[in-house]
Amino acid sequence: MRPPYLLLDIDGVLIPFPNADGSTPATHARHDVVPADRSADNPVTVWLNPDHGRLLMDVIRTGLVTPVWCTSWRLDATTLIGPLLGLPPLPHVDLPSPQITTSHPNGYLWKRDHVDDWLADAPAVWIDDDFTNLDHAWAAERDAKGAPTLLVQPDPHHGLQPGHLTELRTWVSQSPAARAA
Ligand SMILES: [Mg+2]
Repeated sequence: MRPPYLLLDIDGVLIPFPNADGSTPATHARHDVVPADRSADNPVTVWLNPDHGRLLMDVIRTGLVTPVWCTSWRLDATTLIGPLLGLPPLPHVDLPSPQITTSHPNGYLWKRDHVDDWLADAPAVWIDDDFTNLDHAWAAERDAKGAPTLLVQPDPHHGLQPGHLTELRTWVSQSPAARAA
């Protein structure tokens, strides 16, 4: 069996949400970036943890997952965010830009239908801060149908923690792909 995809979100995972007082974790450093749809005089401020690059590379280097950005940053994930963390260029899921006011317009994560089509029956670990119970039910259903699926859901105010990647590595090492390797 092929290695699972590792679908990676950015907002709420690599870029934590500010707390009510506007503060961000002390582990994160400030960067100003200019997404493709903005002009140079209108940058976006982001906060990134330099340790995340190393932690993700430790996972990527195992070859046990195929990393793919799955984020509303789309191509900017590869061109702007990845390099700030020392990550190599990674492909991205080409998500649409729906006119929505909530990330759960149908009770589940707006990305999911696109991801479902994109994955077809491929195994996947998906790290996102914004799953609902319906997404967890979807993952369980995929799993039951023979497409191993793990959802990892960081707290958006804290973002990705080392323990999330430990969980991922444990799951992957027990997956059929790893056992066949
Ligand atoms: Mg998010």
